[in-house]
Amino acid sequence: MPAVDDKYELESIMIPSDDIKRRVRDLASRIESAYRGQEITLAGVLKGAAIFMSDLAREIGPTVDVRMDFMAVSSYGNSSTSSGVVKIVKDMDASVEDKHIILVEDIMDTGLTIAYLKEMLSTRSPRSFKTCVLLEKPERKKVDSEIDYRGFTIADEFVVGYGLDYAGKWRHLPDIWRLSRAPR
Ligand code: 5GP
Repeated sequence: MPAVDDKYELESIMIPSDDIKRRVRDLASRIESAYRGQEITLAGVLKGAAIFMSDLAREIGPTVDVRMDFMAVSSYGNSSTSSGVVKIVKDMDASVEDKHIILVEDIMDTGLTIAYLKEMLSTRSPRSFKTCVLLEKPERKKVDSEIDYRGFTIADEFVVGYGLDYAGKWRHLPDIWRLSRAPR
């Protein structure tokens, strides 16, 4: 501890798991109040949002009919920044038409990925469309894409853990960590 690869190492915890748990509960309870008695589809973006969405879904009570679906995207940029051109590697399984969709993402950096997915899913006639994003880096924002359910606003630092990786590593950590150097 901390784990090391050839270039980067974990530096310090930015958001401890207890804070994440509390915030996820808050978000779930807001979603529950908004959709009580209705069906919603949580649409998670793999792989980063998998852990966040699993925790979020389990905190939404049985008064909401929660469906879970996933999509996988890859950016045409390098692995740690976004080019805004997104390739759909795996689409959602179910149709979004006439459904209440909540897009669940790990982090909004430039906002380009979410803007792209929002645009794409909106053309498929959902009944409503909202976004739920664990982390937002406002300093890096390039497009004005609204977040409806936001976990934390963070400074412009590269983070890993709680689903977020660097080169496939560190997704499994329960806390969110800063890296010693930003990989960009
Ligand atoms: P955006 O299109 O908003 O610029 O980029 C979103 C994607 O960039 C995220 O889904 C994530 O894959 C990656 N990303 C941006 N910032 C970070 C970060 O601090 N840590 C990690 N692990 N990935 C990031």
